[in-house]
Amino acid sequence: MHAVSRVPTPTNEPVLSYAPGTPERVALKAALAELASTRTEIPLRIDGRPVATGRIDEVRCPHRHALVVADCHQASAAEVDRAIAGALAAAPAWAELPFDARAAVFLRAADLLAGPFRARINAATMLGQSKTCHQAEIDAACELVDFLRWNVAFARRILEDQPGSAPGTWNRADYRPLEGFVLAVTPFNFTAIGGNLPTAPALMGNVVLWKPAHAAMLSNHLVMELLVAAGLPPGVIQLVPGPPAEVADRALGHLALAGVHFTGSTAVFQQIWRTVGERIARYRTYPRLVGETGGKDFILAHASADVDALATAIVRGGFEYQGQKCSAASRIYVPRSIWPAVRERAVAMTQEIRVGDVADFGHFMGAVIDQRAFDRISSYQALAKKEGRVLAGGGGSAAEGYFIEPTLVELDDPRHRLMSEEIFGPVVSIFVYADASWTDTLALVDQTSAYALTGAIFAQDRGVLEQAQRALRNAAGNLYLNDKPTGAVVAQQPFGGARGSGTNDKAGSLWNLVRWTSPRTIKETFDAPRHFGYPFLREP
Ligand code: NAD
Repeated sequence: MHAVSRVPTPTNEPVLSYAPGTPERVALKAALAELASTRTEIPLRIDGRPVATGRIDEVRCPHRHALVVADCHQASAAEVDRAIAGALAAAPAWAELPFDARAAVFLRAADLLAGPFRARINAATMLGQSKTCHQAEIDAACELVDFLRWNVAFARRILEDQPGSAPGTWNRADYRPLEGFVLAVTPFNFTAIGGNLPTAPALMGNVVLWKPAHAAMLSNHLVMELLVAAGLPPGVIQLVPGPPAEVADRALGHLALAGVHFTGSTAVFQQIWRTVGERIARYRTYPRLVGETGGKDFILAHASADVDALATAIVRGGFEYQGQKCSAASRIYVPRSIWPAVRERAVAMTQEIRVGDVADFGHFMGAVIDQRAFDRISSYQALAKKEGRVLAGGGGSAAEGYFIEPTLVELDDPRHRLMSEEIFGPVVSIFVYADASWTDTLALVDQTSAYALTGAIFAQDRGVLEQAQRALRNAAGNLYLNDKPTGAVVAQQPFGGARGSGTNDKAGSLWNLVRWTSPRTIKETFDAPRHFGYPFLREP
């Protein structure tokens, strides 16, 4: 087909309510029951075919850890090599496919996810990652649909960005994929990120090796099935679950590594960067490194803040998805004048929260992801009891599932570890400052943590909002005014942070896609000069 087409205008996927009596609630409950009673076998996916290696790692349900929900085949170095070879073989045909043909695959995936795959992928996210139905819906369904649809529109804007041409010439930009393959390494906490990290580079014409997180395998496996159902050609995205260091190291050692698309912890991204740095002379090209990593996200309240809105933001921002969002509110600064009222509201709401099996829709929180997370978060709770004042929560039980009570802790030392380290669990640390030290508190918020992902300022005084925005310009890549620091929506709040939080390439935006293309400039001259001489060479 030869046409200058228009891509469909994207809009954000509406969030379904799952209120009693709705058809989506019925469908989701049925899908949950079915998945919970099936032990899913998850193969690798190489060259379009499922691959069973026989090396199995069990995937367990975090809120019922006796329940094995899947058996996941594990890749070893041999399968990684096979997957890379297959991807490189698939690369030329995928790169040559017209943009519209590639885009159509992902637009189709978006529609299949919004429709027939929605209930199953949401159910898998609830069962495997312990999200409530609302948290699963905004992640696995809506955000992934948004990534798939909006990226197509953003990519088209990149293709349309063309250089100017002087008379007698025509200049063009050819948006080539990177030469080689991209390694996508994805986290457990968002099914949408699992889907976005491999598909964004693939949309730009790249072939991708996808190393998913073990705990998210049930949903990520269904995302792979979705892409296959949408017509993704074999070899374009190769799914290689397995021991993280082994799989990643093999891929990072390949001379055709052209990029890494990572989301996860700061330590792992730094390890990847170090490995690539050490091997830099071996690669055919300079690998592009894109990584969105940890956070220690703040809420800073001014004395003019609306107390109810602030307390709600602390509770929702801190405890939704058990605090396991990179954007979770985890250090809070409140002035002494409003603290008694804020404390009363925040503690009361925290005590109202029900924690338990997410299949019971009355639970606001499920379990944390695994034993390691449970132990890490529990040790922070122990520290809170020893060195702070626990205002709510503080306990937990790993007997049936990895349940941690939502915990509020007040600290006298604003530089305490609980105020500066990423906990990645439902523990919210609070420092109460003297109203008169507002300006010093701005500097404190800016300088306390190594991260700079999200932050929120609560104030009704407009001058104060302006002052705080200026002072905290580099403290967060996503700043919220009078709103909680979580819940970024594709194309509304492009997401990412700098400092220790990552390369800030803003997932789900044009800025991210730019990293997956290597433009070639073509100049064509219609009537080329036929002699080397210039007019200035002539004698007067
Ligand atoms: P993680 O770093 O443990 O794992 C992320 C991925 O890296 C997984 O696929 C894992 O298997 C893999 N991995 C682990 N060790 C590895 C190694 N040595 N080499 C290569 N790969 C390795 O993170 P997680 O627990 O899945 O996710 C939580 C972290 O992710 C938190 O720090 C959170 O803040 C961050 N996160 C950031 C964003 C963001 O946009 N900034 C979004 C979501 C999560």
